Amino acid sequence: MTHKERTTVYDVVIVGAGPSGAVAARRLAEEGMSVICLEQGEYPDYTKLRHSGFEFELTKNQYFASNPRRRMAPSDYPVNVVDSDVEPLMWNGVGGSSVLYAAAWHRLKPSDFRVRTVDGIADDWPLTYADLEPYYTRVENDFAVSGVGGDPAYPPGYEIPLPPFPLTQMDRKLAAAHDRLGWHWWPGSNSIATVKHNGLLPCVRRGACTWGCFDGAKASVDRTHWPTCIRLGVKLVQNARVLRVETGSDGLATGVTYVDRGTGRAHFQPGRTVIVSANGVGTPRLLLNSASKDHPDGLANSSGLVGKRLMMHPYGTVSGLFDDFFENWQGPYGQRSYSLEFAETRKDTNFYRGAKWQLMGMGGALATVGTWPWGGNSDVWGENFHPTVQKRFGRSAYWGIMAEDLPSEDNMVSLDPDLTDADGMPAAKITYKASQNTWDLLHYNQERAVESMREAGAYETAVMPLQRETGWHILGSVRMGEDPRNSVVDAFGRSHDVPNLFVMDGSVMPTSGAVNPTGTVAALALRNSEAIIENRRSQPVSKAAEALRVGS
Ligand SMILES: Cc1cc2nc3c(=O)[nH]c(=O)nc-3n(C[C@H](O)[C@H](O)[C@H](O)COP(=O)(O)OP(=O)(O)OC[C@H]3O[C@@H](n4cnc5c(N)ncnc54)[C@H](O)[C@@H]3O)c2cc1C
Ligand code: SF4
Repeated sequence: MTHKERTTVYDVVIVGAGPSGAVAARRLAEEGMSVICLEQGEYPDYTKLRHSGFEFELTKNQYFASNPRRRMAPSDYPVNVVDSDVEPLMWNGVGGSSVLYAAAWHRLKPSDFRVRTVDGIADDWPLTYADLEPYYTRVENDFAVSGVGGDPAYPPGYEIPLPPFPLTQMDRKLAAAHDRLGWHWWPGSNSIATVKHNGLLPCVRRGACTWGCFDGAKASVDRTHWPTCIRLGVKLVQNARVLRVETGSDGLATGVTYVDRGTGRAHFQPGRTVIVSANGVGTPRLLLNSASKDHPDGLANSSGLVGKRLMMHPYGTVSGLFDDFFENWQGPYGQRSYSLEFAETRKDTNFYRGAKWQLMGMGGALATVGTWPWGGNSDVWGENFHPTVQKRFGRSAYWGIMAEDLPSEDNMVSLDPDLTDADGMPAAKITYKASQNTWDLLHYNQERAVESMREAGAYETAVMPLQRETGWHILGSVRMGEDPRNSVVDAFGRSHDVPNLFVMDGSVMPTSGAVNPTGTVAALALRNSEAIIENRRSQPVSKAAEALRVGS
């Protein structure tokens, strides 16, 4: 039963305290708007990271596991992946998945916004690279992006605010190989501080990035954004699981109903504008669960597309073994270098679009005998154990091959008919199959990556075609577009159906590009927040929420 106490009506109610919610909260509060953010989890407890202990590798996948199905923290919700080739990964707490992300930072390329025009498939975005460029520049400063500007794969003027990490011996080998092959490579750009910046300390290169950064160098928004948000007066409510976005008889959003996970009580939080920033799984889950008499198929879903067109960047790896000792357990884990040589459609292949390659270190000793990134590990035990560790530890590198995922309405997030979370909210069900285009794309890129490793001097290579637990990038499930018949939100994230409801996260992306998405997600949140600020006087507001304001 909902507990209806007299409560403040905020200008903006935000669901989710990850990068999207944090960027929006900060910008809106800077302009004097009153903002409340409801987050189902808590601040991460970095003391649980045994980053400097011998047991680090053994314990890293417990509290800080990236798969919520393994972690099973109270803030997580169940995700049914029985019908999915890829499992979505995330962190549910203040900071969102930036607590765990590798922090490889990218912009989309101009062609990524015009896939229909360039390749005759998928869709164009209702905005261009030029529209987003100023916002990319601003968020790159806020997220302490380090690297080398001027990558020729991008239009001129792409500069990077913080100095790069030095190239390692491993980077130099692969770079020289690409120079000989005539293939693109560039030093890695990462949202990891190399000098003190925006509350972050310089990286000490322990390589624990994807299990939380104890040392405070990685730009996770619990560090880079939330302290400022709190200072600006944003109210952040932890352990608040939002069950529904509510609407009034005028069809406008009135606020949200959430459960306080501490007390188990339900509350209604009114707001003039609602922003959902719960990621590509959490956002459609919430909109679908907000079905009502007036919106029987879920809120904002007159197009029928809420939850559909899920994209997750299918990911495979190519590892190389070398005679050289690279010390490649050192961080940052993100990306040491990358290549966009094969990131666009090519005339000599039978598939559309392409992949980004990121050169990664291998991790510690335990990583040499795991399945990641080696594929099968059945032959590493027994008498093979010592020779395998000796052969692999410090003497290997891998290309992570991140495939552009084309949108398909068959790949989707829906509500599970049986499974619920601890608060009775239906679980998310993922239906996702990698397409033939994806398989062809991955195979082609993996063959080229083997060539790259061989040219760099690898005497042996191992290919892992498609890894299941790699759904780091959860995109596309609430499509942005101009036409309400075939999209859910407009170019500024505003719902076509409910004009005071906004979606700000990767779910709005009409196509996925091949690169890591957080730069784009953050730039969109900043752009869309500025549109809210600009239109605040003409913003339609539900009469029901206004009535509460008078009474509050
Ligand atoms: C292991 C890993 C590695 C990654 N590596 C990279 C990388 O190298 N580069 C890159 O660009 N990206 C990477 N990503 C992706 C990156 O983390 C996301 O793009 C980014 O976090 C998206 O931000 P967001 O705020 O939109 O969503 P999220 O970060 O997922 O935040 C959503 C928040 O909403 C909350 N929420 C959801 N539902 C509800 C509800 N009903 N009520 C209340 N709160 C709710 C969640 O608890 C969560 O805190 C990685 C992700 C993972 C998991
Ligand atoms: S390598 Fe750098 S960014 Fe990664 S966990 Fe260590 S200090 Fe943090």
